[in-house]
Amino acid sequence: MNPVVLVVNSGSSSIKYQLLEPETGTVAASGLVERIGEDDGAVAHRAGDRTVEHRGPIADHKAGLRLVFDMFTETGQDLADVGVRAVGHRVVHGGEVFYEPTLITDDVVAAISALSTLAPLHNPANVTGIESTRELLPGVPQVAVFDTAFFHGLPEAAKTYAIDAELAAAHGIRKYGFHGTSHEYVAGQVARLLDRDPSHIDQIIFHLGNGASASAIRAGHPIDTTMGLTPLEGLVMGTRGGDLDPGILLHLMRTADLDVDGVDRLLNRDSGIKGLSGVNDFRELRRLIDADNASARLAYAVYIHRLRRYLGAYLIALGRVDAITFTAGVGENSPDVRADALADLELFDITVDPALNTAKSRAPRHISPPDARIPVLVVPTNEELAIARSALQVVDSAG
Ligand code: AMP
Repeated sequence: MNPVVLVVNSGSSSIKYQLLEPETGTVAASGLVERIGEDDGAVAHRAGDRTVEHRGPIADHKAGLRLVFDMFTETGQDLADVGVRAVGHRVVHGGEVFYEPTLITDDVVAAISALSTLAPLHNPANVTGIESTRELLPGVPQVAVFDTAFFHGLPEAAKTYAIDAELAAAHGIRKYGFHGTSHEYVAGQVARLLDRDPSHIDQIIFHLGNGASASAIRAGHPIDTTMGLTPLEGLVMGTRGGDLDPGILLHLMRTADLDVDGVDRLLNRDSGIKGLSGVNDFRELRRLIDADNASARLAYAVYIHRLRRYLGAYLIALGRVDAITFTAGVGENSPDVRADALADLELFDITVDPALNTAKSRAPRHISPPDARIPVLVVPTNEELAIARSALQVVDSAG
């Protein structure tokens, strides 16, 4: 029997999880706990072709996980009996401390918790998920896989912010980068699709989901990425605006009476596509654009403008490129975004084939013409599988 790994991704009010076989990628069960801490909590658990649902208040992460464990039992997969080899936890911020998948101990939990100042929305939720799972599945090794890890070795020039160096050093200010598990996984899939050694490829990856980031990868190692100290920098996202003049914040704090919490809300929830158009989901944005809504059209134009800015920057940073790849919810499903991001770049040997771009497929695929010098690709990401594989590797090598 192939080993199974439980992957847990705890957000501030949600938990996404999967039980899967890292060796084959087969998913035995998956689900989502939503609105933890609110009266209208919900769990949807899918095992094979069965879906079990729960509605009602969910007090905290532990209560949510307990419900999930009950649902596993209800669908015939009692987690205490199915031989879970490891639990892999997605942890957002590893700071300077963690840059490899790490076996979780009390000290590791404390260190992840201490990094909460760098990721106040994410790391506390990750810690709660870890602590609850450790209690509910005692004896099963748990592994933390960090979203920042892939970008740990960014070159000095790319990771350094040009501010007072002593202040920066004292407060851990540097570009860390996020979505690393996805960028690393997709980079590997690109090498497979092109049938080339990853260490011989230079590539640009656009991870475009609710959060969005791009990376420039030379010979398997990232040399730049758009997200920074926090996941706020870079591309325009669902509810985050990405790059902006920091002076805007000073101005708003002085003139619009915004305090730290107000700025936090503005940057994390009320900006990006949502701030400009009122909706954060790309499918809704598309419907508004089709209805000729001017705010939605502008939001889309700003989104594409930013993508192209980073495409240009990363082409120059790399000097040459063997593949440009789109992944995640928007990147995998929106042919318009892909076509508009790469429009009118024939001079740079970058073209998208309209038929290939709009063809329906869930497989890793080319969307550039067959004779294109620079392949343009769509590669579905699978962070859960990557986390499960890392967790299994750590547990196996720990003996
Ligand atoms: P992710 O964070 O990778 O799960 O991506 C979520 C985002 O993907 C959603 O907010 C949607 O905007 C977008 N998305 C999902 N499906 C589609 C689709 N069929 N067309 C366009 N955008 C989509």
